Amino acid sequence: MYLYETHMHTVISSACGKSAGKEHVRLYRDKGYQGVFVTDHFFGGNTCVPRDLPWSEWAKRFHAGFEDVWNEGQKVGLDVFFGWEQCYADDEYLVYGLDLNWLIQHPEIATCTRQRQLELIHEGGGCVIQAHPFRFRAYNRYVRLGLRFCDGIEAANKGNVARWDVYARHMGLMYRKVMTAGSDNHDSTRIGPNEDVFGVALEKKLSCGQDYARVILKEKERLETDQSLSPEHTAVGLHVPDGRFELAEGEQEPEDSWFLDEHEQRVPTHLYFDTYPARQV
Ligand SMILES: [Zn+2]
Ligand SMILES: [Zn+2]
Repeated sequence: MYLYETHMHTVISSACGKSAGKEHVRLYRDKGYQGVFVTDHFFGGNTCVPRDLPWSEWAKRFHAGFEDVWNEGQKVGLDVFFGWEQCYADDEYLVYGLDLNWLIQHPEIATCTRQRQLELIHEGGGCVIQAHPFRFRAYNRYVRLGLRFCDGIEAANKGNVARWDVYARHMGLMYRKVMTAGSDNHDSTRIGPNEDVFGVALEKKLSCGQDYARVILKEKERLETDQSLSPEHTAVGLHVPDGRFELAEGEQEPEDSWFLDEHEQRVPTHLYFDTYPARQV
């Protein structure tokens, strides 16, 4: 099995990032990971790259966080791939499989709708994963579930409390979505030697970032065409601590969440995770 971090930020391109390539690479090498995806906060999110730069300049500066990690990765044989995390109203999406040249040629990606984002990313050969779909924080006014605007969901996020991941996994099972896991790691110096990092476990080593998108899209298609395949048993294994998806006593209270309809407007979900399988919308 090959382990990959799918969600991390650098101090170079994310305003909230704390670690540079050196610290990140050391951590994942020590944890036995084969590679990492650098997914800094993109144009709609908490990037630290000034938005008034000309687009190609913005893209290059944004890409510098990835380059720093890649350079460090080269020294120790850790594979480093480029991605990003785009933010909409409250919902965020991880994008994989595109490179700097593609970014420079597609300035529209900075501010387009969720639907257009999915189309553009697919045209380029990449994929879109909704990050931490259930996250109840002050900056998330609503939980907006963008299932129709992604190829899969991040079922486990180390930055979440476990209960939110339980909801996400239930939703993944219910709606037969490809599920991934990631650490949302902003600071590798604060993760101890015995502490888990979250990632995906793949049977085959990835040759490039687009390779990962191909795996996701292939599993998405299998889930759509083969009803006997469980979303828990795709080729994308979740590398998370045991018991991550178990609710503790008294934690079954459903919280308010909304689906995004085809107009990207929020509609009530009527999801009740304590009575899974839930009522259908
Ligand atoms: Zn952040
Ligand atoms: Zn993130």
